[in-house]
Amino acid sequence: MDPSKRGVYPGRFQPIHWGHVKVIEWALQRLSELVIVVGSAQESHTLSNPFTAGERIEMIAAALEDAGIDKSRVWIVPLSDIYMNAVWVRYLAMNVPRFRYAIARNPLVVRLFREAGYEILMPPPFERERFSSTNIRKLMLMGSSEWRNMVPPSVARIIDDIKGVERLREIAGRD
Ligand code: NAP
Repeated sequence: MDPSKRGVYPGRFQPIHWGHVKVIEWALQRLSELVIVVGSAQESHTLSNPFTAGERIEMIAAALEDAGIDKSRVWIVPLSDIYMNAVWVRYLAMNVPRFRYAIARNPLVVRLFREAGYEILMPPPFERERFSSTNIRKLMLMGSSEWRNMVPPSVARIIDDIKGVERLREIAGRD
């Protein structure tokens, strides 16, 4: 495969939602391959990062399946944080297949890739207020089932399977 047509898409995906899926589709319309980097891989069982890297990888694979995205064009790589922003892109590049583009909107992430000499592809916001992992976790904590409309059905099934809502509510002391 040609690394000059490959891009990386870092995110925490806590959890992956339809907005992320739209970004993946948008990127694959412009690139031949995408490396989805599951960032903050060391984090789990917290209010901002309830799911493990492994659970998030499962959810991403399921979301790709639901959306009918060709998985042979996508890599999914977990990456722990290093808390040294200046060298983070070099560290990421060491852990993923070679790439030329970075798909990002997060200003810090955009800045770091640009400084490291990569080209940025900035996707538009896809219903950003609604499709947001923060919003989804908030709805889960409130006991609303509305979050189910924001993630692909297989992702909701995995979250049910691992009792994800119960985990989040327990961590928050809601149960
Ligand atoms: P995220 O909240 O999962 O989002 C990933 C990307 O998707 C962001 O660019 C986000 O844009 C975009 N997105 C989300 N919903 C969207 C929608 N509805 N429409 C269009 N775009 C949408 O993850 P993140 O927090 O940005 O992830 C960055 C990861 O890199 C983290 O794990 C972070 O710890 C890691 N990182 C680590 C270091 C280090 O270790 N030193 C340094 C930098 C970054 P928005 O900006 O609009 O949310």
